[in-house]
Amino acid sequence: MSRFLSQRFAALEPYTPGEQPQDRTYIKLNTNESPYPPSPRVLEAVNAEQVSMLNLYPDPTCGLLREKLAETYGVGPENVFVTNGSDDILNMSFMAFCDRDHGIAFPDITYGFYSVYGQLHDVPCRVIPLTEDYQVHVPDYVNIGSNVIIANPNAPTGIALSLEEIERIVQSNPDHVVMIDEAYVDFGAVSALPLLGQYKNLLIIRTYSKSRSLAGARLGFAIGDAALIEDLERIKYSMNPYDINRLTQVAGIACLESDDYYKANAEKIIRVRDYTTKALEARGFTVLPSGANFVFAKKPGIAGKDLYQFLRENGVLVRWFDKERIRDFLRITIGTREQMDKLLFVLDK
Ligand code: PMP
Repeated sequence: MSRFLSQRFAALEPYTPGEQPQDRTYIKLNTNESPYPPSPRVLEAVNAEQVSMLNLYPDPTCGLLREKLAETYGVGPENVFVTNGSDDILNMSFMAFCDRDHGIAFPDITYGFYSVYGQLHDVPCRVIPLTEDYQVHVPDYVNIGSNVIIANPNAPTGIALSLEEIERIVQSNPDHVVMIDEAYVDFGAVSALPLLGQYKNLLIIRTYSKSRSLAGARLGFAIGDAALIEDLERIKYSMNPYDINRLTQVAGIACLESDDYYKANAEKIIRVRDYTTKALEARGFTVLPSGANFVFAKKPGIAGKDLYQFLRENGVLVRWFDKERIRDFLRITIGTREQMDKLLFVLDK
């Protein structure tokens, strides 16, 4: 830390992203990417002609991309907001809707960035424990009287809430924004999209990084009432209006033209998830019920850290969190059947 760093950030604990090793090839099951490449349409769309136009700034309104997203999800373009990955949406939402007098609530075990954004923007965070069996305890959020953010399915547990449960939270907090982070919703959970018309305080946050195989392109979007989207635009236009580059914009549109390809991939991942869950259980693991493209599992009697290190030494990368309550768990991304068989082979050692 230099002596020039603002005091505001002196105590800030930044988020630690999963490893992206460049030194050797691992079976990479640590950051919940898709094991499948983007669709052929995406490869065609990001072509030499598009590259030759990189001397020109991209469209800051992302007009074509927003229209295509609106058409895909049955809303208007004014209900859609896009950014450079959904982490930026989370960040801008904390800026737009939270402050010292407008705190936010989220579970103790959830996506680690929520508490980082809370610290970054000096927002009071109410951290609510998951139940003993790692479920979001919905009554804790009913009439809570603050903003709320919940990942559905939750991460890293993978456990999903029902639409009725989400609705209870949204409905009972009409004067606060309820953000539902649906990064993993395409792997079998239920989206809150059907609630959008009824609730002006609901913001749904999505990403292209998981089911749409574009983690490397960085593209996230939010869907919500036009007034909420306008608030987010206000923040974006005060930071970086050109945050989505030309190539990502065309990739994002082409991706939506290949919905069948991505749905088929998601179905494959769900099948391999069920296979992996059974195989881990057969080896004595406890596996939480997952609605996501990862499983959260522990083997009684073995420390999570030791297992993580053993797998790493044997060429398999998974995610381990050095955090109370979940220190013995590993979060394992679901890859292809072949990748999961390699994981199981190493575990059998
Ligand atoms: N929300 C959750 C719950 C996540 O796990 C992630 C991925 N780390 C994100 C949001 C952010 O994804 P991205 O910025 O790649 O869109």
